[in-house]
Amino acid sequence: MKIGVLKETKAFENRVALSPDVIKLLIKKGFEVSVEPEAGMASYFSDEDYKKSGAQVISQSDVFDSQVLLKVNIFTVEEVSKMKEGTACISLMYAYNHPEVLDAMNQKKISSFSMDAVPRISRAQKMDSLSSQANLAGYKSVILGANYLGKIFPLMMTASGTITPAKVLIFGAGVAGLQAIATAKRLGAIVEVTDVRPETKEQVESLGGRFLTVEGAEGVKVEGGYASEVSEEFLQKQKELIQSKIKESDLVITTALVMGKKSPILVTEDMVKSMKQGAVIVDMAVESGGNCEISEKDKTVVKHGVTLVGESNLPSLLPTNASQLYATNISTLLMHLASSEGFNLDREEEITKGVLITYEGETVHEFTNKIIN
Ligand code: NAD
Repeated sequence: MKIGVLKETKAFENRVALSPDVIKLLIKKGFEVSVEPEAGMASYFSDEDYKKSGAQVISQSDVFDSQVLLKVNIFTVEEVSKMKEGTACISLMYAYNHPEVLDAMNQKKISSFSMDAVPRISRAQKMDSLSSQANLAGYKSVILGANYLGKIFPLMMTASGTITPAKVLIFGAGVAGLQAIATAKRLGAIVEVTDVRPETKEQVESLGGRFLTVEGAEGVKVEGGYASEVSEEFLQKQKELIQSKIKESDLVITTALVMGKKSPILVTEDMVKSMKQGAVIVDMAVESGGNCEISEKDKTVVKHGVTLVGESNLPSLLPTNASQLYATNISTLLMHLASSEGFNLDREEEITKGVLITYEGETVHEFTNKIIN
């Protein structure tokens, strides 16, 4: 089977769907791989690196002859127009938000599989790119925040005086939040964390964070590995608890996600006003509306003396590692769906059913667990 890797066209995207190391493994399994020239350049993989891995580096129009095309971001309508009928595509699609691409795919009977629709089950962990990318993004959120802060993280006792450790407040102890806790602790900060799922307390504490418990309110329903519904009572009590904590924080990182919903607003403009001058907020949920009322997507702005970072593609700022991990995720999914002989779909199997979006001219996905993006 011929696999084709296209160069990403989305602005500020530095990642690539396959890394040279992963291509070596696919070739060992009998696949043929071709790569568009300079596809890996922004991830620091040269065309030479790809050739050494056994891939062919060929013109974009020849890459479109592949049986399956791989990308990080969803294929554009223009790219679909260049595909042959019956081609298969795998990428992060956030398909619910792109009906025009699905229409174009259906007209050409393109089979499409979406990486963001991989079910959060243990069997699919190696295919879970939302987690692999969120993990790196959690790390980068702390590094970026530290960069904007006029203070250091650790306690430092010097002849010139004692510097107290920075205080970091993290909303959400999912994949990104847990990595942010670990990173901020390693740098020496005091880390406090709030999450609606009480079971995260143990994980937060095992990383050295302090869990802020919201007393006397039911938390949240969890479905398919994601928080699905939070009570108003809980949110109100959480707000009261946070109001006092946020005033003392140097860095706030927000990662709160409720599946299928716009991100909850957890940091209001009044809370920002109450913060210390020079404090920083990194709003990781900015793509789906933001956890902070006044952060701006893809901008870093200063409001009320607080720096608000709204970077929506943090993994792209770590493109080498992000591409390596994504390549493992996408190739594992591909090998689940196909062998070197071709696709062999069992449409009732949970992972296949979960990721299949368009098939034989129809949109077949149920969109029960849609990610707003
Ligand atoms: P996750 O589902 O693993 O974690 C989200 C956590 O938020 C869960 O633990 C959930 O219980 C918690 N939560 C929900 N409501 C809350 C509330 N009111 N208060 C506190 N916690 C609450 O998700 P993840 O993979 O860690 O991703 C987190 C967020 O980061 C998502 O919004 C995701 O889209 C975003 N993200 C951003 C980037 C970026 O580059 N900016 C990259 C990756 C992920």
